[in-house]
Amino acid sequence: MKFATRAVHAGQDPDPTTGATIVPIYQTSTYTQTRVGEHKGFDYSRTINPTRLALERQLASLEGARFASAFASGMAATSAVLGLLSTGDHVVVSDDLYGGTYRLFARVLERYGITFTYVDMSDLGTVRAAVSAATKLFWVETPTNPLLRIVDIAGIASLRRAEQLVVVDNTFATPYFQQPLALGAQIVVHSTTKYIGGHSDVVGGVAITDDPELHERIKFQQNAVGGVPGPTDAWLTMRGAKTLALRMREHARNAQAVAEFLDSRDDVARVYYPGLPSHPRHELAKRQMTGFGGMVSCLIDDPERAKNFAGRLKLFSLAESLGGVESLICHPGRMTHGSIPAEERERRGIGDGLLRLSVGIEDATDLIEDLRAALDATAGTRDTRPPLLA
Ligand SMILES: *Cc1c(COP(=O)(O)O)cnc(C)c1O
Repeated sequence: MKFATRAVHAGQDPDPTTGATIVPIYQTSTYTQTRVGEHKGFDYSRTINPTRLALERQLASLEGARFASAFASGMAATSAVLGLLSTGDHVVVSDDLYGGTYRLFARVLERYGITFTYVDMSDLGTVRAAVSAATKLFWVETPTNPLLRIVDIAGIASLRRAEQLVVVDNTFATPYFQQPLALGAQIVVHSTTKYIGGHSDVVGGVAITDDPELHERIKFQQNAVGGVPGPTDAWLTMRGAKTLALRMREHARNAQAVAEFLDSRDDVARVYYPGLPSHPRHELAKRQMTGFGGMVSCLIDDPERAKNFAGRLKLFSLAESLGGVESLICHPGRMTHGSIPAEERERRGIGDGLLRLSVGIEDATDLIEDLRAALDATAGTRDTRPPLLA
C-alpha cells in the first residue's frame, strides 16, 4: 500500500471488543489477568498499552519498517537509542544539530564516559577521519537544524562497519519525504512533537528499526528506563499522523514559495532551503528526498533588524518548535540553540541575524504578505546606506 493509505490504516484495526472504528484511548495502567500467569498480552502500561501499540504500528509502517517504540518526547527516544551504548564508546555527530540533542550528549552522556566528535557530515572525508576503533554510532540529522544542510545518508552508511549503527533523526524531512532505512540507516528517530503530531498540541518521540534484535534492545530501554507516552498523547499523535501526507505537501509548497520570496529580497542576505537551486546540495536533496520540507532559514545582516522583524510578524508566531499547521518563526541563537555556547554557535554559522521559519499550511499569499510587511516596516532599523554627499 502507498504512504497516504498506510498513514490512515496501519495499526488502526477496529477495536476487537466493541468494533469502535477509531482506536480507543486505553486510559489504564494495568490489566486484569484471567489466572496467575495468564493474560491477553497486556500486563502493565509502561511495558505495553493498546493505544500506544497502535501508534507504534502506524509509525513503523510509515518508515517502511516492522518495529517502532514510542516515547514521551523526542529526547526520551534519543536517550533510549544512546542507552544502547556503553562507557568508552564513541559517537560521530553532525555539528549542526538540534540544541537539546547537543545538550544531552555534552552535558549528560559525556559524564557516563561516552565520547562525541562533531563534524560537518556533509563532507564524507571529514566523517571518515573522525571514526576510531571505539566508534559505535553515527548520529545524523538531515536536513540539519537550523542551517538546512543536507547529509548523504547512503554515503554515511557506506562508511559503516558491521558493529556500528547509523541513526537518523528524521524529524525535519518526515518519512513522507525521506526514508533513511532504505538508504542504509539502522534506526530512525523522530520528535513526533513536530510534523508527525502536526498540530502543536502534544509532545512525543519514536525510535524505529526493521532489525528484530535492535528492536528488542530498544524495547528493553523503553521498559527499563520508562520514558513512555501516556495513552491520550499516543492517541493525539496517531490522529495527527493520519494526515501527514497531505500536510507535508502543503508545507513544502508554501516553504518553496516563502524561500523564493525571501531570496528575491535584497535585504535578506541569505536563504537556506534545499529546494532552491542555489542550495549547495540541491542535487543531493533531489536524489535523497521526494520533497524539500517545510523549514526555511534566512540571514538578515543586522541582528537588531532580524529581532525586530521576527517580533513584527502577525501570522508567524515567535515560538520554539516547528512542524505544526501554523507558521512559526524562531531566533535559534536565543531560543532553540541557546544551550550551545555563543562561540561554538558562531563557529557553526548560527549567528545573531539567523532566523528559522516553520512554514505552516496557511495560504501562501498571506504568509508572503506578512513577511513583506514586516521586512518593509523594519527597513532602516540601522542605516547602512553610504553617507550622502553634502
Ligand atoms: C524537537 C526536536 C527534537 C527533540 O524532541 P522533543 O519532542 O522536543 O523532545 C529532536 N530533534 C529534532 C530535529 C527536533 O526538532
